[in-house]
Formats: sequence, structure tokens, C-alpha cells
Amino acid sequence: MPNFNLPDSIFKQAAAQFPTPFFLYDEAGIRATIRELKQAFAWAPHFMEYFAVKALPNPRILQIFVEEGFGLDCASECELLMAERVGAQGRIMFSANNVPAGEFAQASRLGAILNLDDISDIDQVLRECGQMPEVISMRLNPGGGFMSNNAIIGTPEESKYGWTIAQMQEGLPRLKALGVKKFGIHALLASNAQENGYYPALAELLMQTAYDLADKSGVAPAFINLSGGVGIPYHPDESGPDIMQIGADVEKAYHRVFGAPAPENVSICTELGRHMTGPHGWLVTHAIHHKDIYRKYIGVDGCTGQLPRPAIYGAYHHVSVVDKRDMPHTEVYDVVGSLCENSDKFAVQRPLPPIETGDLLLVHDAGAHCYAMSHNYNGRLRCAEIMLREDGSFQMIRRAETAEDYFATLL
Ligand SMILES: *Cc1c(COP(=O)(O)O)cnc(C)c1O
Repeated sequence: MPNFNLPDSIFKQAAAQFPTPFFLYDEAGIRATIRELKQAFAWAPHFMEYFAVKALPNPRILQIFVEEGFGLDCASECELLMAERVGAQGRIMFSANNVPAGEFAQASRLGAILNLDDISDIDQVLRECGQMPEVISMRLNPGGGFMSNNAIIGTPEESKYGWTIAQMQEGLPRLKALGVKKFGIHALLASNAQENGYYPALAELLMQTAYDLADKSGVAPAFINLSGGVGIPYHPDESGPDIMQIGADVEKAYHRVFGAPAPENVSICTELGRHMTGPHGWLVTHAIHHKDIYRKYIGVDGCTGQLPRPAIYGAYHHVSVVDKRDMPHTEVYDVVGSLCENSDKFAVQRPLPPIETGDLLLVHDAGAHCYAMSHNYNGRLRCAEIMLREDGSFQMIRRAETAEDYFATLL
């Protein structure tokens, strides 16, 4: 089920205080998910989640992860700057690819672990940093199709990321000669995985690969990085993955490969984005127009420039109407923004209760990869982000863009 944890009264209060559209994020919900993840991996030595900054790049949100003892996963100069600003130095995973010159040096200055996407990155790190760090990470691309419960859930062979196993076998002795003492291994082979089996299958693959590489090279494994990709239930028919079960099944894979009790020196880390914040955000928007032609349309004051997933991927986001959640869904609408693109639809042929102009609509599960993907197409501006604090107060954590912002980069 999509997230219905907050009562309608909260959204009405927020909309009385801030002009729509805006994103509302639930701090308590994010912290609860953080604690649940800690519990699911409590068995793992030195478990660390590096929250994927790209999922929700706002310092106030990132601060929550840092306060909870977690780190940040960065992949660009600005993401590193943001991590620095929230004091995440020494708790950063730099999982970039096709890395522009200078970013390994920048990441290294912040004490980040460098997660190399390609064997050629070794030379780039040497050029920029002068030497290899003692702990380095490599991103694996196993090729082929990636299976969970006998179903293909990813196609690594078609993806641009990672090293082949042969490259790792060749590269690790070189890294050892360059002073590397320990290595980590990483892969991201699925996105929004609904199966409980994704992480355990990935874990087994990474652990076995690490075990074999260590055996051959004499370099010890430091960590297994399961990266992101664990899904959330966007659709009412989805129940979503069970993180406690996933943690328990990853533990079984760990003991199968490394033995029990868990060796203290091989830790587990993750770079979850969507799973951590996705359910804890909503786009709050007012209905401003009705249109009745071959279909019935509800026009809202937000658009998919502010939340592009439905327009880009045809992604499902649940839409609910404040104060009408329990009314019969007797109408069928397309819920649309005002971009001059017919893909600008939050919902297509969606059963909903009868909507009046002025009704408040919520686009659910907008806490990850939503604001983050927003753009200015058609001269439409990005909207504000509001956080519902644990004490019940609202805090604006990013103001809406103005026309001045839009013109600021023009010369
Ligand atoms: C996108 C990404 C993540 C987060 O993915 P989610 O699907 O949001 O969990 C983690 N690590 C890397 C390297 C990524 O590119």
C-alpha cells in the first residue's frame, strides 16, 4: 500500500501555511525507517547505510541520516559539497561513474571511500590523489541477466556500470602492489525491486565473489556494499518488500559464504535511497481546473516538471483527495499539470471520488527521486519542500523557485 500514515488534517494545516504546490516530508517516518533498517542488519558487523543523496538532495534531510549515525552516498561534485556541508566527512561512499577530473581528489579530501566503477579509474585516482588509499571499493558488473526467485530482475549485460570479474582478478593484484590493504565490493543490479529475494541473491553473489578474489589475491575483503534498489509499494496492490526478512536472509547468505559466527572484519553496507525516504514524501497540490472532452481532466497547480517520474517512466503514483479518502471512487480522471506535453499527467484514467475545484490532492510516495528529478521545462518553476518535524511543526527546508532564479544563469 502507498503510505497513508499522516491524517488529512496535517496536509490541510500545511496548505493553510504554505502556497501549493509543495512537497511535504515526514521526519518521524524517515527516522522510523532508519531504525527499522538498523534492526534488520543489527547482526552485521559495523553495518552502515550510506543514504543515496541523489534520491532526496536536501541538507535538512541528509542531516537526519548523519544524526542517526549513517553516512551518505555521493556521485558528483555538488553531492560531495552537500555531504561536506552536513558534516558527513569520513562517512561518505563515492559511487560515481564516468568521473570528471578532480572528483576523486575532492572525495578523497573528505575521507570518502572511493568505489571505482572501472579498472581505468585506478590511474585516475593515482593522478589525482598521488597514491591509492588503503581501502578501495570496486563495482561489479556480473554480465548476463540477474535473477531472483528464477525471474530476471535486472540486465547487467546492458548496463554501463562496473568491472567484469576478469578485470577484478587482474586489477586486485595491481591494487595490492599499489598499497591497497583491503577491498570492498559493490553492485546495483535492480531498481525498485519488490522481491524480498533481491538483496539476498545479490549478497550471495557479492560475498562469493569477494571470497574468491580474496583467496586468489591475498587482499582481505573489508565490506560488501549491497547498494540501493530495494523498492517501495507505489501501487495499492503492492505490499512492498519486508526489510526484516531481507536482513535475515542476507545474514544466512553471509554465514553460508563466510561461516558463523560472522567474522568481525567483513562488514555490510547499503546505499538505499528510495526505500528510506520514498514513502515519507507527498506532493501537495490544489485542483484548479475541470475539463470535459473525450476524457475528464482535473488540472492541478503542480506539474510533472516538479515530479517527473510519471511523465518519464509512466510510473504509478497514488493520488488521493483530502477529506474524500473514503468516498466511493465513482469518477475516472486524468490528473494533469500545465506543461505543453501530453505526458504531463500524475494519473491516467484513474478512479477517484468526484473532485471540486479547490480540493487538495496528494501525490503519494514522492519522497525519493521526485524533487530530485524536477526541471524547468516550459519555464515552470520548482516548488518548495516542507518538513513535518517530529514535534508537529512545519519547517520550510527549500523555498519555491522564483522567476528571478529562472533568469539568474542567463548572461
Ligand atoms: C541510485 C543509486 C542508489 C540508490 O538507489 P535507490 O533505488 O534509490 O535505492 C544507490 N547507489 C547508487 C550508486 C545509485 O546510483
